Amino acid sequence: MIPYGRQSISEDDVAAVVAVLRSDWITQGPSIDSFEAALAAYCGAGYGVAVANATAALHIACLALGVGPDSLVWTSPNTFLASANCARYCGAAVDFVDIDPATYNLSVAALARKLAAARAAGAALPDVLIPVHFGGQSCDMQGIAALAREYGFRIIEDASHAVGADYLDGKVGNCRYSDLSVFSFHPVKILTTGEGGMVMGRDPALRAALQRLRSHGMVRDPALTERQDQGPWYYEQQTLGYNYRITDIQAALGLAQLQRLDLFVARRRQLAARYDALLAGLPLRTPQQDQAGRSAFHLYPVWIDAAAAGKSRRAVFEALRARQIGVNVHYIPVHTQPYYRDLGFTAGQFPAAEHYYAGAISLPLYYGLSEAEQDQVVAAVREALA
Ligand SMILES: *Cc1c(COP(=O)(O)O)cnc(C)c1O
Repeated sequence: MIPYGRQSISEDDVAAVVAVLRSDWITQGPSIDSFEAALAAYCGAGYGVAVANATAALHIACLALGVGPDSLVWTSPNTFLASANCARYCGAAVDFVDIDPATYNLSVAALARKLAAARAAGAALPDVLIPVHFGGQSCDMQGIAALAREYGFRIIEDASHAVGADYLDGKVGNCRYSDLSVFSFHPVKILTTGEGGMVMGRDPALRAALQRLRSHGMVRDPALTERQDQGPWYYEQQTLGYNYRITDIQAALGLAQLQRLDLFVARRRQLAARYDALLAGLPLRTPQQDQAGRSAFHLYPVWIDAAAAGKSRRAVFEALRARQIGVNVHYIPVHTQPYYRDLGFTAGQFPAAEHYYAGAISLPLYYGLSEAEQDQVVAAVREALA
């Protein structure tokens, strides 16, 4: 089986992990600070706060921005469950903004319409928006930031797919157009720590809040404790936090992987361009690229034109799986999940996301995919559509 995504682990990666295992720290050691500093420098962010996974990162990002039971959070329906669930963990209400049919990212036009309609109706406006850089391509962050200024909401970029991606003249994750950005280091993503995530930001007060929330709401720095001169053992719990810590073992892997991030992204872009060329003329739509940035290509989603092909998406998907091509589908629109349906959402509410989902198939794309394997995928797609 050729999988849809796969990690690449080098001997240097292995050596970095082994070195930590032989050191004094296997968690909460120096590799975490180094990984945070290195990725922040790479992105041009002020700092990074590394945690156990991106879901935890989204949760504490929401909490740091004050999301609570009275809050409203909007996100894209074309995403993994975590982009919406993070708001629910805080007790907040969730709503969705439909996608742009060209990029499959949250549509700025739809956002502007929904905001204007909410204001006109005297309905609640969102406190936080979580745009998702689908497949590794940045959303229109300038457009979103302009609306944030007009309507007064905060922004958390779910950049789980987009480490290494470019937007305008900077890297995704620099938070130039947002409050915070979140990366995932799950093995199918672009850079891995096994499990892991990081919140990137610029505001120092948010950094302190994120660090507290990551570790039980605890503070040890005597400059930050309420009570002074209690002794060198002293710590304070100042808010309700969690154990969302990452280990030094994982951070060492992330730091080693970061040395190859540009290589990973360059190869993904090259393979994506090759897919574009090899799939031309077939009854499917290849992923469209917005000229404002360059995708990191976490995913290569094609949209099967069932009417033109005379084949359903399901038939094409099953034919590919039968040929040992590990295709996948990204994403089942979150608002159609039973949990969200039970909160009052219904099919038909976000038609662009639903229309895209009906034809979507993600083809294998990862650093170690060979051209011979890619040719095998393309041949199988041709046969499946024939
Ligand atoms: C993978 C993913 C997450 C969750 O990442 P974890 O590190 O597995 O918690 C969140 N949002 C999106 C868009 C993702 O693809």
